Amino acid sequence: MIENKYKGLCNQLINELKVKGIEDINVLNAISRVPRHLLFDLVFRDKFSYQDIAFPIGEGQTISQPYTVAFQSELLALKKGDKILEIGTGSGYQAAVLCEMGAKVFSIERHKPLFNGAKLFLAQNNYRAQLFFGDGFKGKKAFCPFDGIIVTCGAPYIPNDLKSQLKIGGRMVIPVGEGDVQQMKLIVRLDSEKYQETNFGDFKFVPMLKSIKN
Ligand code: SAH
Repeated sequence: MIENKYKGLCNQLINELKVKGIEDINVLNAISRVPRHLLFDLVFRDKFSYQDIAFPIGEGQTISQPYTVAFQSELLALKKGDKILEIGTGSGYQAAVLCEMGAKVFSIERHKPLFNGAKLFLAQNNYRAQLFFGDGFKGKKAFCPFDGIIVTCGAPYIPNDLKSQLKIGGRMVIPVGEGDVQQMKLIVRLDSEKYQETNFGDFKFVPMLKSIKN
């Protein structure tokens, strides 16, 4: 729930997302309930937390732009109770939005400080996501199949492990590309072997990287 002080700013953001083409009421409602300002240091909070921009969260990573979060969440087309795997927990914001939409969320992050921060943010706000510290390229076989998979970092290619962990009829939303710009792709699993791929234009993400060697 968002405290009154930030309600107005959040409503402005929701209007901006509608103008930019976001229509799914479940997505807009979820975004209007997640306290994004809690993910910003006090000095940046009032000015930046409900602007439609990406923002640094440490470790060279960013919290995604709200429009990108909304766009990817809309493409997932999830139903209440769906099992969703997120790759790249980052701040925990996208995971919170998915929880607000009624998903059972599983999320993987490869940076320990971000993993710890997201864990705290989600617990303190009563979001019951299951978080894992590790390598998103492998997915989470123990909890598959997933109704949806959302990748929130720019993937160099579509990992086979993620494809194989999708339910038949399940959807994966993944930005693919190795340079500065990625192509947003929707992969729908048609049967045990066939996948349908649709492109949704250019987006900018931090890169998906192999696991950190300790
Ligand atoms: N969904 C996040 C966006 C974070 S940016 C949010 O709402 O804030 C993308 C994140 O993906 C970064 O935190 C980065 O550390 C993480 N990441 C990059 N490669 C990864 C990998 N192989 N496995 C898991 N996480 C990865």
